[in-house]
Amino acid sequence: MASAPPLETSTFVGHPPPPSYEEALAANPQYPPMPYAPAPDMKTSVPPVPTQLYSPMYPPPPQQGQPATCPVVSVQTMYVQPGLAFESVPVQAHCPVCTQNVITRLEYTSGALAWLSCAGLAIFGCIYGCCLIPFCVDSLKDVTHHCPNCSSVLGVHKRM
Ligand SMILES: [Zn+2]
Repeated sequence: MASAPPLETSTFVGHPPPPSYEEALAANPQYPPMPYAPAPDMKTSVPPVPTQLYSPMYPPPPQQGQPATCPVVSVQTMYVQPGLAFESVPVQAHCPVCTQNVITRLEYTSGALAWLSCAGLAIFGCIYGCCLIPFCVDSLKDVTHHCPNCSSVLGVHKRM
């Protein structure tokens, strides 16, 4: 009965104790430098790298700033802009029917402003045909923008 415990303990005791850290380093000379050397190097080298990368990258853009590039881009965006404003002059627009960029063709139609101008002239005494003058003035009429290719309506500019 007393033989079992001593055997077990003897087997545990018989095991060679794990080598200490100094012994392991001495047995494997390749390992010591690996854990120690990279750590300090990385700690010291990491901070300088970002600063060196950021500092050169930010200053050049302002110094090499090309004023010609920005205006060109903005002008192109204005032309491509789908929600462009249709005024009383032909504009470049994209026709969804024939899928082409075209210069709109204008068509003047008598709108609210023309009729109000006619009524105003009639009230002030222009009742002998003079009140019809607004219907002959394009600047008082609504403007409808048509596609020159397929004549589809691309936009309408109303005076009022
Ligand atoms: Zn068209």
